[in-house]
Amino acid sequence: MTNEVANTQQKTRAFLDRQTHRMLIGGQWVDALNGERLQIVNPADEAVIGSIPSAHAEDVDNAVECAKKALEHSVWARMRPSTRQNLLLELADLIERDARVIAELEAIDNGKSAAIAQAVDIGLGLEFFRYMAGWTTKIEGSTLDVSVPFAPPEADFFAYTRREPVGVVAAIIPWNFPFLMACWKLAPALAAGCTVVLKPAEQTSLSALYLGELIEEANFPEGVVNIVTGDGQNAGSALTKHPGINKISFTGSTQVGQVIGRAAMDNMARVTLELGGKSPMIVLGDCDPEKAAQGAATAIFFNHGQTCSAGSRLYVHRSIFDAVVNRLAELAESIPMGSGLDPATEMGPLVSQVQLDRVCHFIEKGREEGARLVTGGERADRKGYYVKPTIFTSEDDSLVIAKEEIFGPVLVAIPFDDVDDVVLRANDSRYGLAASIWSNDLSQVQRIIPRLKAGTVWVNGHNMLDANVPFGGYKLSGVGRDMGKQSLDSYLETKSVFMAL
Ligand code: NAD
Repeated sequence: MTNEVANTQQKTRAFLDRQTHRMLIGGQWVDALNGERLQIVNPADEAVIGSIPSAHAEDVDNAVECAKKALEHSVWARMRPSTRQNLLLELADLIERDARVIAELEAIDNGKSAAIAQAVDIGLGLEFFRYMAGWTTKIEGSTLDVSVPFAPPEADFFAYTRREPVGVVAAIIPWNFPFLMACWKLAPALAAGCTVVLKPAEQTSLSALYLGELIEEANFPEGVVNIVTGDGQNAGSALTKHPGINKISFTGSTQVGQVIGRAAMDNMARVTLELGGKSPMIVLGDCDPEKAAQGAATAIFFNHGQTCSAGSRLYVHRSIFDAVVNRLAELAESIPMGSGLDPATEMGPLVSQVQLDRVCHFIEKGREEGARLVTGGERADRKGYYVKPTIFTSEDDSLVIAKEEIFGPVLVAIPFDDVDDVVLRANDSRYGLAASIWSNDLSQVQRIIPRLKAGTVWVNGHNMLDANVPFGGYKLSGVGRDMGKQSLDSYLETKSVFMAL
């Protein structure tokens, strides 16, 4: 074992050994005021490995108060943009230094492969801080030519806009990409000069708490980032309804997103919602079946299907349908499954017993509805919340398993004959997060892209992300965008200044 590996394992162990973790409010690591705690379970072996505070309304009040104070009265409020930029860059460096530790925490808390998390979740997260650091020094308004009705001709006027931080941000994130989602919310909020109360998912709070330690180490002023742990019913709901919150940024289920959206409007809080999906993959007849099968395997099985943009509806031209599905089944059966800490693992357990039950329920529903099970279709015969990669085929895409977000390693493959028809079927969903098209017929591809009702369209790939490219949904998949400059804009208000000279 190299020194570096030993050092990493020691850091991870030291963090986990604390077992009773605390949350970060106003620069202090504290318990919930009522002392309640929630257990942390390792999904790979179902063992309880510690606990986190279960925050309630009074803890949320404190966190919002601290965030408000930091926004209005701390050095943060007067900080030069270039200093803010340096803080974000310093944080990114610390994340890079401890990338392996954070990845191991993700593996233990969420079940995902540490090796994949280090490359994808942590890699994208720290890149996003660096990307947003660049924007801190480039926030600008405009000067505007104005003419005022009834003003005498000799009167002079001047107008300009200022961009200002929207204020205190409530960031509520899910368990599927615990660390990356924290980065998606924190980086633009901090770049814009906001302060934040972050609530990680109750199932997976460890990496956010570790990030809190790095935020302290980077010397962000107290209260700029507050992290409250707890469930949705108590902590999340109190945060959402708090009148001191100026913007809510949420990623999670559409059902909760709707509740949050309504609560946000009571206080006119700005809102970004990144919600569920049932993303179609459309494989045209000219596509190499091997390439399509490899692409579909990654699109659905990456992160065990617990990805909002997972390619869970696979439309394949009938001429290559059997070839694609047979090869996809072979690939599904060969995915190495195991603990996220094992370097050979590509698919770990699902995040929780609740998620396992939910996914198994959908698999049962697929059978009942008469879809043909090609492979998988059951829990793996081992301890932990493992489900075998599952592929159904069906001619009928009105089945529940072809309509509802399953959020597990379950795909429905559906043959099609006609491109116009498949576009209509791809759009026949209440969701509109993402879609992918697989073909080298660029004319055909270009004609399909504008017709797809989806926030992202990938061509010959799926789940491709970059800090510079906005990500978000049409329809019930959400409101607004994460990532890219559009995300920064959503953490800024525009103030118009109008002067009579
Ligand atoms: P969820 O939407 O309930 O939870 C996401 C976050 O919202 C968590 O932090 C949770 O504590 C919080 N929350 C829950 N209820 C709240 C409320 N009333 N007010 C404020 N915050 C609240 O997601 P889940 O229950 O963990 O998963 C259920 C399903 O949601 C999954 O099976 C999946 O289909 C979907 N999901 C989608 C995404 C996504 O990225 N689109 C992520 C996670 C889950």
